Amino acid sequence: MSAGFVGALSRRSWLPEAIAVIVLAVAPSVAPLVSVDSDILGRILIWGLFGFGFDLLFGFTGLLSFGQSAFFGAGGFIAAYLLTANLIGNVLVALALGTLGAAAVGVVVGLIALRRTGIYFAMITVAIAETFFFLENNPLSAWTGGENGLPGVPTPSLDLGFVAIKIGLGWSMYWFLAAIFLIGFFIARRIARSPVGHILSAIRDNPLRAAAVGHAIHAYKLTAFTIAAAYAGLAGGLLGVLQGYMPPEAFTFDTSGQLVMQTVIGGTGTLIGPTIGAAVWLFGHDFLQYGLGLGAAWRLGLGLIFVLLVCLLRRGIVGGIADLARRFGRVPAARVAFVRTAAAASLQAKRRARPETEPGLPILEARGLSKHYGGLAANSDVNFAVGVGELRGIIGPNGAGKTTFFKMLTGEVTPSQGQIFFRGSEITRKGVTEVCQIGLTKSYQINQLFPKASVRENLLIPALAECRGRFRLDLLKSIDRVPGLQADVEETLALLDLTARADVLVADLAYGEKRRLEIGLALATAPSVLLLDEPLAGMSPQERVETIRLLRNIRKGRTLVLVEHDMDAVFDLAERITVFHEGRVLAEGTPREIQGNSFVQEAYLGGVHAA
Ligand code: ATP
Repeated sequence: MSAGFVGALSRRSWLPEAIAVIVLAVAPSVAPLVSVDSDILGRILIWGLFGFGFDLLFGFTGLLSFGQSAFFGAGGFIAAYLLTANLIGNVLVALALGTLGAAAVGVVVGLIALRRTGIYFAMITVAIAETFFFLENNPLSAWTGGENGLPGVPTPSLDLGFVAIKIGLGWSMYWFLAAIFLIGFFIARRIARSPVGHILSAIRDNPLRAAAVGHAIHAYKLTAFTIAAAYAGLAGGLLGVLQGYMPPEAFTFDTSGQLVMQTVIGGTGTLIGPTIGAAVWLFGHDFLQYGLGLGAAWRLGLGLIFVLLVCLLRRGIVGGIADLARRFGRVPAARVAFVRTAAAASLQAKRRARPETEPGLPILEARGLSKHYGGLAANSDVNFAVGVGELRGIIGPNGAGKTTFFKMLTGEVTPSQGQIFFRGSEITRKGVTEVCQIGLTKSYQINQLFPKASVRENLLIPALAECRGRFRLDLLKSIDRVPGLQADVEETLALLDLTARADVLVADLAYGEKRRLEIGLALATAPSVLLLDEPLAGMSPQERVETIRLLRNIRKGRTLVLVEHDMDAVFDLAERITVFHEGRVLAEGTPREIQGNSFVQEAYLGGVHAA
């Protein structure tokens, strides 16, 4: 996969896992040679685990949370309290309960915080983390020990049936942490390579389009938030076990801030980046404070290192190494390796399985549709109906309300008045995701692609919505094994005449190719009715010819509604034409009737076609 989307992660390679196993296995032999002890390695692993979840949230989904300390502290204190109050004797069970507790807190906090995006989301997470810090220190201090924290957290014993292993401090604790770290890494990698991992990246790159092609993006964001909270809770629990003490600082803003810095240093969207960042941070801290004797000025030194690294390596240390490897050709251009399955034909079956519209009834109908923006009426009392298999053209001067009308039909904008029917059922207040899932979508006037991905990866996203529905938690399934996905993507690539360009990044496409891909994203959702908003806008004559050929090809078996300013194309392609003027329907008829309509000529065509 291309850099920046799911990165090299989505290839079906076990190399990163193998490297992780080898590095963790040799670390105890090498570390003492460079005066590194088991404690600092253990801390790096705990921060690394914390970082897996955070990277899935920030690096993959694009949600920058400054409140991860809330879950780190919650998981840590739940596990520590259960153990120190002797409610649970088994450390592993207590850690699991702490992880689940943090995940549950994550669901609740996510439901609140994810109501907003961008800086507002980030600020809500800060506020929530501060609230947790207050709760831990005050009303809950009987359970958390307040500012003293919880001492006496025991180390684990592993009862293997024939032998019980008591994990002490030192290197045996390192092996315990390394095993959990590896399990955490394997799971995070699987999530990244799953359909969900790809959808999270699509949400990061273009949430509007991810929702418009049929994914329930809010549910996916909540999933990422909960996973990040679970990883944080597990890491918090392990910190208490490593130290034999659960410190109140786990809940502070410093913890959240340090996690963000380490992730940026190591590289976002790489999973292993936060672990590398943690190593830089912790070694840097020790070296500056004790090695160079800087004392409290270590923060200044580390701050400068952070600024330097961010300026020199925009994608962090791991991202920088990956870029170098790519430049010197070590990493081949990766692509999703689909597994051919007999189930590939299921996509076609699903397409056919959509309910048929009764003969004689319109497949899509608007009754009295209006949209007001304050005092401005973008659409007023629009009545419109399209029959099955029809190719309808919509024309009208700039500002006539054509795009707004499309937005209402596809559920992107809620009408002020009126009703919309699709296959005879009312869909007026359904959202854009649901409308797409029932077979009605549009291509955009201004391209809404997934810019960091290749052509093939772009088409995967709508195809996944078509194959899997609006939401599915197949977190551990490889995307290569989604039945029907290959057939869908290859079919759309061929239709768009982009097969040869399948592994090219969107940024490297010509404008006409981008426009075709824009249509392809809508097509890959297998719509019964496809609305096309100015597909020919801004094209060279050659690109225009290719796109008109594409429109002729895709109309077979579909109902198309085409908004276009290219009069020659509309009058050539459309069976009937609806003319919009000042938000209303001015006229409707065959191309010949519209050409002969004197109102239309006056309002729009200026007599050109009549002549
Ligand atoms: P064009 O051919 O230039 O794309 P159009 O026929 O698609 O134009 P719309 O984009 O639907 O026209 O706009 C219709 C009117 O509604 C315009 O006056 C526009 O400024 C206004 N409008 C559209 N969206 C909004 C909005 N979100 N807020 C306020 N006014 C809007």
